[in-house]
Amino acid sequence: RAKAAGRNVYSFHEPGLDAVIAKRSLLERDLRDAVRRGGFVLHYQPIVAVEGEAVGGFEALLRWQHPTRGAISPAEFIPLAEETGLIVALGEWAICEACHEAASWRDGLRVAVNVSAVQFQQPGLEQVILSALVASGLSPRRLELEITESVLMRDSDAAITCLHRLKALGVRIALDDFGTGFSSLSYLRRFPFDKIKIDRSFIRDIADPDTAAIVRAIVGIGARLGATVTAEGVETQEQLEQVRQEGCTEVQGFFYSRPVTALEALNFARAQRNRKVTFARLCAT
Ligand code: C2E
Ligand code: MG
Ligand code: MG
Ligand code: MG
Repeated sequence: RAKAAGRNVYSFHEPGLDAVIAKRSLLERDLRDAVRRGGFVLHYQPIVAVEGEAVGGFEALLRWQHPTRGAISPAEFIPLAEETGLIVALGEWAICEACHEAASWRDGLRVAVNVSAVQFQQPGLEQVILSALVASGLSPRRLELEITESVLMRDSDAAITCLHRLKALGVRIALDDFGTGFSSLSYLRRFPFDKIKIDRSFIRDIADPDTAAIVRAIVGIGARLGATVTAEGVETQEQLEQVRQEGCTEVQGFFYSRPVTALEALNFARAQRNRKVTFARLCAT
């Protein structure tokens, strides 16, 4: 009986696990292939100032159009790219591509690029960023790096040194997904961030007074530290009003725009600017 039960358990688990592993290794193979052949594009999501609603820049976000499965979310392929080390090559491509794209933008528009903790564990990251800046001609002041606290977690002296050197050049450093990690507040002491991005889970629940109080407290901390505070994931007018009230300096989210192609993102920035000009003219007459 035990043997029979054992066999049942065996036959119940094995195909499921096999399927998961098979799917994963197929995806890994395709990912490797896409990195080699250049199967990715960047989309850009506008970052909008709360006061005046002008676009200050865009966050570059990787998009993978899989040959048979269609668009695959970064939530699925970024963790796999990190586990397999493919993020090093993929992330390098994203940095170069974003810098080259942004170099053609006018009005000082900035570009924000996400950098994974795995990329910081490699010694070459600083050189990759410097080369991308030099090759593209983009001013370091127009580049922003978004990192999560995992970059600062353990054995992070090299990462912190690298961040300081980039910051000294004028590159801005943002702490992404703030509030979701293990002990976010202590990471604010490890590095003088230029920007704190409040995770969208807080914005989703901001109608809740306790959540609003937390957002307000983060804004207060940001102000004291000399960091701007961005609300991520603003989807509705109500959320926009609320984050404005709590004092966030910038917002990003579907309310203004989803991540879109560079051309669409620039059109959005222009439309926002024209709106402002029209409004100023109306006020003047
Ligand atoms: P993230 O850096 O926190 O990027 C913000 C994510 O929130 C994006 O998801 C964006 O599409 C999504 N988002 C923005 N506004 C809203 C909203 O109003 N509502 C909702 N529901 N979502 C919103 P995406 O593009 O799927 O990227 C997921 C994550 O993948 C990013 O989170 C980032 O951690 C990672 N990632 C993306 N591109 C890169 C990259 O080039 N390099 C690295 N290392 N990671 C990247
Ligand atoms: Mg980000
Ligand atoms: Mg984020
Ligand atoms: Mg995230």
